[in-house]
Amino acid sequence: MIKFLALLMVLVFSLLHSGCTGSKTPQGLSGSADLVLLNGNLLTLDQSLPRAQALAAIGDRIVRVGTNQEIEPLIGEHTQVINLEGQLTVPGLIDGHGHYMGLGESLMGIDLKAPRTWSEIVSIVATEVSRVDPGEWIVGRGWHQDKWEWPPTPNVEGSPVHDELSRVSPDNPVMLIHASGHGVFVNAKALEQVGITAATPDPPGGEIVRDGSGRATGMLRETAQDAVRDALARYQASLPPAEQEARLRRQVELAAAEAIANGVTSFHDMGETFEIIDLLKKMADEKALPLRLYVAIEEPAEKLAEHLARYKMVGYGGGYLTVRTIGEKVLDGALGTHGGWLLEPYADLPRSTGFNVVPVADIRRSAELAIEHGFQMAIQGIGDRAARELLNIYEENFRRHPTSGDLRWRIEHCQVIHPDDLPRFARLGVIASVRGIFATSDGPWVVKRLGEKRARERGYRYQSLFESGAIVINGTDPPVEDIDPIANFYSSVSRKMINGEVFFPDQRMTRLQALKSYTSNAAFAAFEEQHKGSLTPGKLADITVFTRDIMTLPEEEIRTAEVSYTIIGGQLKYRRE
Ligand SMILES: [Zn+2]
Repeated sequence: MIKFLALLMVLVFSLLHSGCTGSKTPQGLSGSADLVLLNGNLLTLDQSLPRAQALAAIGDRIVRVGTNQEIEPLIGEHTQVINLEGQLTVPGLIDGHGHYMGLGESLMGIDLKAPRTWSEIVSIVATEVSRVDPGEWIVGRGWHQDKWEWPPTPNVEGSPVHDELSRVSPDNPVMLIHASGHGVFVNAKALEQVGITAATPDPPGGEIVRDGSGRATGMLRETAQDAVRDALARYQASLPPAEQEARLRRQVELAAAEAIANGVTSFHDMGETFEIIDLLKKMADEKALPLRLYVAIEEPAEKLAEHLARYKMVGYGGGYLTVRTIGEKVLDGALGTHGGWLLEPYADLPRSTGFNVVPVADIRRSAELAIEHGFQMAIQGIGDRAARELLNIYEENFRRHPTSGDLRWRIEHCQVIHPDDLPRFARLGVIASVRGIFATSDGPWVVKRLGEKRARERGYRYQSLFESGAIVINGTDPPVEDIDPIANFYSSVSRKMINGEVFFPDQRMTRLQALKSYTSNAAFAAFEEQHKGSLTPGKLADITVFTRDIMTLPEEEIRTAEVSYTIIGGQLKYRRE
């Protein structure tokens, strides 16, 4: 109670006095901070005091920012004091787009990001087969055919054929999820369990890839993967309930540990079901959520209509759970799997303009529900056709409901945008939620997919979005990419691909833009600018500290920086060993 009163006084004083002195809170408070950081290189992103040396927090809030001399009087008997030793200290990083439970799940399944050939993946699965019981599902994640040193033989459109995989795993269904999440590769046992044969037609919005003789290769694109994912879900649902909940809780913990070790203090989770949100709420009540979550609901429109009103939560559980967004319904698929919905056909697959995954009518209905219940929309638009459809739907709704005010609707990914549509983001107040790192991981094959001219004019135009005045936020889309803000920051500012070439250098972000895309802009995109996004008295004490100064290091050294400390709500959650 005393602490609370002290905090209240500090906040009142800081409101009265802000701007009057060098430090951002008044004199007179002493020996009462819970946490003090000294000797830092604080980049506050607060215009009234952009640079500082030290900071104090009481409870979960920052109470003072200033010089060592200004902060030291707040050190008391029970204050935790951290000597930052001159390290760069910034507002807690917000990963603006990811899949929280998917991240947790990926840390449970087999990681297939590292293998550089298809044979390597097959032998990893073979080892797993020897560990599990017959009939048990084997799940892997993160493979990408364009990362392999050579294409598998045989292959169909670059993806393997399942025979080798089926040979090493005759009795266990295997599902290997593509790095984009927009396709899976399965073995014969899995195909058999879901009843896919040569005679099975492609489902709407997806494709069962076939070889020359019409036989399914094991590669299932977009909605064609649903049957297998459903079969896996049925298998998991057949496990005892306690085992299922324990598994989900483990996912929450694994995802949090991974995020926090990467300096991430808040996470925009782009799509969970009502059922998962129930579990997250329960964990928030138990104070068992280690990371702040901003969760979008991903459910079909008719289910939203039924339950949406009950699910709005803002700052629930001490600011650890907010639900006020409808997302990430995928209007289209990924470019990597030729799924992104384009205005014109793929350069390297001229028969296709990609897929419209969730019907436009469903998105339209969700948008009406969002207006009705005061929810934000955050829908994936990868291709230029998808972005246009979304901008049209958003614009229509804004026009029809001019009194709805500050809606901050978002488009996720924005990888291909037609030049006519780019200025519409700023004009309509639509937030561009981009993935800096996609530019460099996709870069090597984007020109192949789109052709040089279209790639240059429409592809990954992050700097143009900033210049247009749009709010741009960043994120890694874990588990699609590692939740590594330093790698993402480097990609955003360098656009340097693994082959050493720079992917359209005019679209590089400045370092300050990249930092804002992870802090103040991301806070704004979640209506949280009063609480997050700068090191300002009164805001949450969410803080990230780096071993090296990523704002001034030579570009090639940015990736040598590491996270030293992650602080959430004034609590030290991670310290680099
Ligand atoms: Zn995503």
